[in-house]
Amino acid sequence: MKKGLFLIVFLLAAFSLMEAEGRTAHADQAVIQVDYLNVRTGPDTSYNRIGQVHANETYTIVKKQNDWLKINWNGKTGWVAEWLTTVKKETSQASGTYYSKYDYLRIRSSAGLNGKIKGYLMKNDVVTPQKSSGKWVYIQHGGIKGWVHGDYLAQKKSSNSSSGSSSSNESSGSQSVIGKIKVDTPVLNVRSQNSTKGTILTQIKKGGVYEYINEKDRWYQIKWGNGRTGWVAGWLVDPVSGNSSSGTTTNTAVTLDYNYTNIRSGPSTGYKVVGRAHKGDQFDVIAEEGRWYKIKFNGMTAYVAGWIVTETTKGAQHTSSSSGSLKGKTIMLDPGHGGRDSGAVGRAGSHESDLTLSTAHILKKQLEQAGAEVLMTRSSDEYVALSARTYYSNASSADAFISLHYNSAPLYIAATGLNTYYYHSKNKNLASDLQAGMVQKTGLRDRGIKYGNFHVIRENRKPSVLLELGFISDAREEQTVRTSSYQEKVSQGVTQGLIQYFK
Ligand SMILES: [Zn+2]
Repeated sequence: MKKGLFLIVFLLAAFSLMEAEGRTAHADQAVIQVDYLNVRTGPDTSYNRIGQVHANETYTIVKKQNDWLKINWNGKTGWVAEWLTTVKKETSQASGTYYSKYDYLRIRSSAGLNGKIKGYLMKNDVVTPQKSSGKWVYIQHGGIKGWVHGDYLAQKKSSNSSSGSSSSNESSGSQSVIGKIKVDTPVLNVRSQNSTKGTILTQIKKGGVYEYINEKDRWYQIKWGNGRTGWVAGWLVDPVSGNSSSGTTTNTAVTLDYNYTNIRSGPSTGYKVVGRAHKGDQFDVIAEEGRWYKIKFNGMTAYVAGWIVTETTKGAQHTSSSSGSLKGKTIMLDPGHGGRDSGAVGRAGSHESDLTLSTAHILKKQLEQAGAEVLMTRSSDEYVALSARTYYSNASSADAFISLHYNSAPLYIAATGLNTYYYHSKNKNLASDLQAGMVQKTGLRDRGIKYGNFHVIRENRKPSVLLELGFISDAREEQTVRTSSYQEKVSQGVTQGLIQYFK
C-alpha cells in the first residue's frame, strides 16, 4: 500500500515535470508582417492557397524550407513566405518583459474590475510591468498607463531575431533615434538589409515621416509599425530638419472614405475611440505609423486607419474634366516589370518595362486631371515583386487596379493590336469599358477582352485588369507605341473607359 502510494506520487511528479518541460520548450515563432498573407499547401506560390493570415498574428514554425515556413495554423499546417514574416527564436532566458496573450485586454484605471477602462492591449503587445497589486500589474502602453490582470500576460522570452533574411527586423528598443526622414517617392520599399537584396518587409508612402536609428552607405534604418525596423534607400527620402516634434505636420493630408470613421488614441483598433468623423472630412497628417496615420483632430493628436482614407498632398487642386469626372476615385496603376525584369524586348530594342513606366506617368497625369487620386506600384525603374504589387493593392483604398503591359509574340507570328485581361468574371465590365476606350482613341486592332491567369489580377481583391497596349514584336507597331503621342492617346482611352465604368 505504502509502496503503491509512493509510486503514484512519483508518477505524478514525473508527469508534471514532463508537462512543465513541454510548456517551456518553445519552438520558433513566425510573426506575420502583412495582412492577407496566403497560407499554401506547399513551399512555393504554385501550391494551392488554403487560407490567409494577418499582420501581427503569431504561429509556431514546424519546418523551414528555402524561403518558406511551415506553420501550425488552425489545427492544421500550411506554408507561408518567410520574407513576409519575422522569425522569433525562443530561448530560455527571461528578459523581464511581458506580452498580452489576448486581443482587447482591458487597461483599467485601478487594480480591480471596478477600474475604468482606459484602453486595450492587443495580442502580443509588449509591456514592462512597473508595479503590482495582487494579481494586477501596472503597465504603460502607447501613452496609456493603467492596470491589467496578470493572468492575461505571459512572460516574453528574450527573443533573438532569426538568423537569415529577417535578421535586422527587430528593434531592441534601446536604439536611439538619430533623426527623421520623409518619403519622397510614391511607394518606397522597406527592406531587411541596407541594399536592394534585402527582402521587402513593407511599403511606405510619399510624405510619410519616420524616425531613423542608423545610417549606412546611403541607406537609413527606420522605425515603422510596432517597434519594427527596416532599411530604406537614402536617395528616395529627404532628411527632416531637427525640431519637428509632434506638433508639426507633413505636407500630407488624408480624406476619409467612409461615414462614422473611428478616430482613435493610438495606432491599432485596440485603442480608445476618441471621436468619429465622416466621409470627405480632411485632416492634416503628422506622421505615419505602420498602416495608421497620426493626424490633427480637434486640436489634439489622434490616429486613423490608413486603409479607409485617401491620401492627398496639401494644396493640390483637382481640376475636373468637362467630359466626366473621376473625383473621389482612387486608381492604382501597375507599370509591368522593372529593374532586373525588363519584360519583352522589341524589334528595335524597346524595353517593355520602360514603355509601361512612361505610359503610367502620362496616364497618371490624365487621371489626376479628371479628379482621381492615383497610386503607383512603382514610379521608377525598380524591381517590385508581384506579391508586393497585389499586397499594396489589397491594403490600399484603390477603386480599381490597372496593370500596364506591352505584348510580344514569336517573330513568325504577325500579331498586332490591343487586348485587356480579367481574371475574376466580376471584372469583365471594367475590362470591356477600358478596351472600348482604348480601341476608340488609338485605332489599333481590337483583340477583345480575355480571361488571363496572371498573379496581379488573380490575387487582387480590387477591381483589376491587365492591359496589353500593343505588340513590340511587330516592327511597325513598336515604332507607334513608343511615341508619347500614342501613349497620350491610349491614356485618354483608359481615362474615358474608367469614367464610363464608374458611371
Ligand atoms: Zn509584360
